[in-house]
Amino acid sequence: MAKYDVAIIGSGPGGYVAAIRAGELGLKTVVVEKDPFLGGTCLHVGCIPTKVLLHHADVYDHFKNGAELGFEVSGLKINWANILARKDKIVKKHAKGIEYLFKKNKVEWVQGWGRYEGPGRVSVDNNGKKSEIEAANVLLVSGSEARSLPGIDADHKTILTNRSILELPDIPKTLIVVGAGAVGVEFASIYTSFGTQVTLLEALPRLVPVEDEEISSELEKEFKKKGIQIFTSSMVDSVKKDAKGVTVSFKDKDGKPQTLQAEKLLMAVGRKPMTENCGLEKSKAKLDRGFVVVSSPYMETDEKGLYAIGDIVAGMPQLAHAAMMEGIVAVTHIAGKSTHPIRKTRIPNATYCEPQIGSIGLTEKQAREAGHAVKTGKFPFVGNSKATILGNHGGFIKVVSDEKFGEILGIHIIGPLATEILSEAAATLNLEGTIDDMMHMIHAHPTVWEGMGDAFASVRGLQINV
Ligand SMILES: Cc1cc2nc3c(=O)[nH]c(=O)nc-3n(C[C@H](O)[C@H](O)[C@H](O)COP(=O)(O)OP(=O)(O)OC[C@H]3O[C@@H](n4cnc5c(N)ncnc54)[C@H](O)[C@@H]3O)c2cc1C
Repeated sequence: MAKYDVAIIGSGPGGYVAAIRAGELGLKTVVVEKDPFLGGTCLHVGCIPTKVLLHHADVYDHFKNGAELGFEVSGLKINWANILARKDKIVKKHAKGIEYLFKKNKVEWVQGWGRYEGPGRVSVDNNGKKSEIEAANVLLVSGSEARSLPGIDADHKTILTNRSILELPDIPKTLIVVGAGAVGVEFASIYTSFGTQVTLLEALPRLVPVEDEEISSELEKEFKKKGIQIFTSSMVDSVKKDAKGVTVSFKDKDGKPQTLQAEKLLMAVGRKPMTENCGLEKSKAKLDRGFVVVSSPYMETDEKGLYAIGDIVAGMPQLAHAAMMEGIVAVTHIAGKSTHPIRKTRIPNATYCEPQIGSIGLTEKQAREAGHAVKTGKFPFVGNSKATILGNHGGFIKVVSDEKFGEILGIHIIGPLATEILSEAAATLNLEGTIDDMMHMIHAHPTVWEGMGDAFASVRGLQINV
């Protein structure tokens, strides 16, 4: 009999959440993690440290706009070292928190490089010290790392990734961000607030290309107001380092060669799966450009007993909360209990730039392409009293629905607290609420959240506040 019911390779959000739930379900569980700490990309160099910096940027923006709120603010200074120290303290606290939760749920963990060695076997290599684990089921949750472009290598001093930009000893005067997905626009937001002149370069025709087109246009408008220079449909040709920093050569949307100079450059062009040297060649699991193909709704690969979770899974969004639920689904299935398979259109997107973006379900374009008789509604936050109180009433909530029965297909929010009021959007889609259900739900007043009620009603032309 195998020593463990489950062995999990990787302790990021996919791995640690799967491990805790496995423990709660009474499965004997071990986690293999190459780093000396738990938490993965999300906790150490992703979701959490970036949101700490975004919070500090937000507070700083409030101080800068103090006069509007009736405060006289003088002598305002950024203590960057203290901000970085607070970020590190928060990360450490939560890494310790995962260790505590492992103990509480009798989850064991070992440090070392984990490799699948065939059914029920995982080898662990901790700096040459080798051991083997027997487990009836193996979850590979090895995560992802930053991609680059051919010929552009991060030196982590001038050409940065999401890791090295978090350790900059000083705030740069100028920064070029290549890539305007969630990671790119979040860093653009952070450094713009702290006074850096930021330029965004994106190969596709719009910012945040996975979002609804109207969200991209609104973000571009708001970013331009903040002074962010934006080049979309622009392809980087080369990056040269020099004494002053970097010079980027690129072709703009008309194909015209251009150059830009900056102190630092951030590569934010996507993330590649970390599936090399994980022993997948010893299994029947299929790969698609390095991503692992799962063939069951419970995240199992073509190799029985081998599951793939999180950023390495082909065709799934690379998001912490998607990884967490995939892990829960897999171990619940292993425990022989009933669970809900993951539905891709029910995974929310949250982007914490300023203005924030929250979305779920189909964009208007996707809904039309899927053959729906699309009816949309839109409520601008300018009509929301709480947004005015907050001094932040840009943006809108857009609802995409099917005209026939008022089925809600997608909800797209840009503006104040978008990533928080997204909770109602997610509940609506998961519980299959219709326009009629949702426009009659009572929303508390005054809240930013009540904008959702107006947005649902606007599909029928019955919004109150605009
Ligand atoms: C800058 C940035 C900001 C982000 N912000 C958000 C956000 O706000 N919200 C959100 O939902 N998502 C965000 N993400 C994405 C999120 O971080 C990932 O989707 C999430 O971390 C994926 O979880 P995972 O468990 O699949 O992998 P990871 O978190 O990458 O964890 C994988 C773990 O496996 C370990 N490992 C790898 N190979 C081995 C091996 N062979 N043996 C042992 N251990 C191994 C690694 O050390 C790591 O600890 C952000 C990402 C970045 C880069």
